Amino acid sequence: RQEQYRALRDVPAITRDGVKIGLNLNAGLLIDFSHLDETGAEGVGLFRTELQFMVAQRMPSAAEQQALYRQAFAASGGRPVTVRTLDIGGDKILPYMAKLEEENPALGWRAIRIGLDRPALLRMQLRALLKAAEGRPLKIMFPMVATVHEFIEARKIVDREKAHLARHGYRLPQPCELGAMVEVPSLLFQIDEIAKEADFLSVGSNDLMQFLFAVDRENRRVADRFDPLSVAALRAFRLIADRAKAANCPVTVCGEIGGRPLDAMALIGLGFRNLSMSPAALGPLKAMVLSLDAGEVARLIEAEMTTMHDGQTLRPLLTSYAHDNG
Ligand code: PEP
Ligand code: MG
Repeated sequence: RQEQYRALRDVPAITRDGVKIGLNLNAGLLIDFSHLDETGAEGVGLFRTELQFMVAQRMPSAAEQQALYRQAFAASGGRPVTVRTLDIGGDKILPYMAKLEEENPALGWRAIRIGLDRPALLRMQLRALLKAAEGRPLKIMFPMVATVHEFIEARKIVDREKAHLARHGYRLPQPCELGAMVEVPSLLFQIDEIAKEADFLSVGSNDLMQFLFAVDRENRRVADRFDPLSVAALRAFRLIADRAKAANCPVTVCGEIGGRPLDAMALIGLGFRNLSMSPAALGPLKAMVLSLDAGEVARLIEAEMTTMHDGQTLRPLLTSYAHDNG
């Protein structure tokens, strides 16, 4: 099987009916970038920069951050890399940072909230990124955005850093695109506005499902109680795909669901054209894409969703459809 997937490395990910699907990798540390060549991925759809912070004994310095980003960009060999700013707090604890006593860390002081309240750390990271790009294209996205206002505030911080670097003679990344992760359900109700403000969106389905269904993603007891192919989840995904398309805003799914063939098939049926996943998932995903008729799956899902009620899920139907169609 591994051999089979390796043989697909240079085969473009195009469905039987001619729909091109962008397959990207999720990365955290430098070693993950070596999988780009191995898998034939288009680029890195999610660079989890907090990993460098989580494996360190102390806060990485500006120079250390910049060095990692520079090496990562070099290792990507010109393929696009979407860098996510620090997503710390919640379940991502830094051993050297004073531990906050929070009743509900998942709902607490984390990710972009820390970045906006204490911008020194975010500014240091942004500066390292902007410098490391050395004039190359750069895509930066912010985690856990809950309101459009937060995104606008974050963009102001980026703009200030860019102006500062420009004044000091640095070459700025060209273009420098800014995106928002869609992983807090409140954004679903500001989806038109965020799609207009942001240069791109990326669906963090792990957290989006956690918060949509009020199910702790780390708690095995409840994690299986919902299905991303159930009607509530599918409607959420469809809303994002439809509204992003209407706003002409590129959108990727970078949560684990994008790397699971059956779930990814549903996402493609709902209109998503870009997925980002762990390296091991890419081969099987590409095999699925090559055997898929995207139009047929879209019609199947559309028809089912109009008649689905209560807690029903499309999983059994899509499983048998996948079986019947290789
Ligand atoms: C997500 O929430 O789906 C996501 C991609 O980010 P993380 O898993 O790092 O929270
Ligand atoms: Mg997340």
